Amino acid sequence: MSDKNKITMSSPDLTDAERQAVQAVLETPNLSMGQYIREFEKAVCELTGCSHAIGVSSGTSALHLCIRAAGIGPGDLVITTPFSFISSTNVILFENAIPVFVDVDPHSGNIDPEMVQQAVRDLMIGNSRAETWRPPKLKYHTGQLKAILPVDVFGQPADMEPIVNAAHKNGLKVIEDSCEALGTKYKGKLAGTLGDYGCFAFYPNKQITTGEGGMIVTDDAKAAEFMQALRNQGRASGDTWLQHTHLGYNYRLDEMSAALGLVQLSRLEEMLQKREKVAAWYAQGLSSIPGIELPVVEPHTTRSSWFVYVVRFEPGINRQEVIKQLSEHNIPARPYFVPIHIQPYIMERFGYREEDFPVTMDLGHRGLALPFSSVMSKQQVEIVYQTLGEILRNLA
Ligand SMILES: *Cc1c(COP(=O)(O)O)cnc(C)c1O
Repeated sequence: MSDKNKITMSSPDLTDAERQAVQAVLETPNLSMGQYIREFEKAVCELTGCSHAIGVSSGTSALHLCIRAAGIGPGDLVITTPFSFISSTNVILFENAIPVFVDVDPHSGNIDPEMVQQAVRDLMIGNSRAETWRPPKLKYHTGQLKAILPVDVFGQPADMEPIVNAAHKNGLKVIEDSCEALGTKYKGKLAGTLGDYGCFAFYPNKQITTGEGGMIVTDDAKAAEFMQALRNQGRASGDTWLQHTHLGYNYRLDEMSAALGLVQLSRLEEMLQKREKVAAWYAQGLSSIPGIELPVVEPHTTRSSWFVYVVRFEPGINRQEVIKQLSEHNIPARPYFVPIHIQPYIMERFGYREEDFPVTMDLGHRGLALPFSSVMSKQQVEIVYQTLGEILRNLA
């Protein structure tokens, strides 16, 4: 058994209801593509108001299917953010398309909407500034701009209105990566429902978990049918079992995971309220500690679903030393994110330098994710901020 008092980076929030739901699946002969995935998808449609939900094996496979549905292929350009978890860029590379990185807003860490608009204008016109948006090693390549892939980081929505407007005026698709933002609201509307396709992820550190899993939501019936086929080895709905209409994948979500997700989804509001409470404990405890900036909830975020709790150190504080001393007190903490444009294989392929995205680099250097989950106790939160406060006082 795990030690209940141990402070972990994140933790799933599971009850007897989840255990019984998984057990019930094990008593049926259908462990994949049965009633539970259909019920889970229906529940996600009811929550989001979207007409189609497609359960898949991970958030990454959800994003990949959207890239395919948007018709993105070799050499096409997709505007996205370098300040994200790696998979939002990897899915573009899976199809040999090219990520066009745009820097982020210094407060939220989400893609800067004005820079997105500028990049769309320049790339659609193909003017001399267009070259400045392309990766350094591909400056004179003439791929076509096809889509925008904004990411709702840390449980806050990207500023979607100007992004969707710029996209739709120019015939571009919007794939919203809401893998960190289930339950988040932008101007009263749920994250994931704001573009053409939205993606959620259910890894154990997310707002709800299925172990591994993901979900796509869309109102586009044709795209939904295509993605349903692709997740199941490219079988179209009329195909017989070994007939395959498209090049597809095994991106199915199994029944145990779907049953778990169904119960978790029914507890979403309860768990979001617990996350809000933990974030408020942190905010109160950390507010008197000099040298750190607390997360800011943007005015357009009418609800944050608090994926992580990331503080930023003022310049001059040695983050690595803080992490080391926290770990000596058995408190885990992580840099969050390591920017995508400086990942070794991305730098090698596209020739980026650190300074190409200065806001992303700055946030990447100064951000630290503290232990965070809906099951953290007030006492655990106190241990974290008191220890962090002491460490910072001794370093000063
Ligand atoms: C978690 C996450 C994903 C998807 O993750 P999986 O592990 O594949 O489920 C995608 N994008 C972002 C921003 C994420 O945080």
